Amino acid sequence: MPDELKSAPSFPEEAALDDAMMRRALIAAREARERGEIPVGAVVALGERVLAVARVERETTGDPTAHAEILALRRAATALDSWRLTGCTLYSTLEPCPMCAGAAHAAQVSRLVYATPSPKSGYAGTLHSVPADSRLNHTFPVTGGVLEAEAADLLRGFFQDRRSPKTPESTTKPCPEAQKFSP
Ligand code: ZN
Repeated sequence: MPDELKSAPSFPEEAALDDAMMRRALIAAREARERGEIPVGAVVALGERVLAVARVERETTGDPTAHAEILALRRAATALDSWRLTGCTLYSTLEPCPMCAGAAHAAQVSRLVYATPSPKSGYAGTLHSVPADSRLNHTFPVTGGVLEAEAADLLRGFFQDRRSPKTPESTTKPCPEAQKFSP
């Protein structure tokens, strides 16, 4: 990932908080995998307070927008009784796609933290950066690479399993992202 996205948080306490929140998001990502979903999890937090945790639910609900970040943002808005999530940080185990980066912008989150970049759909610095696009009416800082190895291993394992001839799912066409997480 670009070096500017690897910049360390300003304070050691912030780095510890980021790790703790990302670990919670990774638990959600593992839960997604157990249900046959792409292992991605997300958390929305207001400081140390966890407002929402979500995993991908696309296969189980048949909803193309049921990405972890979207669901976490919706639940956090419900928890705060406000669509505006100013002051909140969105944590995701995978760099958000165009839709989720757009939703984070719409919710006016104050910060985005993700674990592993997404070369095929990342819109928080890889293919484009919605958070840093100064033409938009809201920008917010991004920290990437938090617990990156764990999140990437989870994704790689998921796509390896899907390609395995032992599983019926292996006959389905893999997500284009599978290539990126292949060994
Ligand atoms: Zn998304």
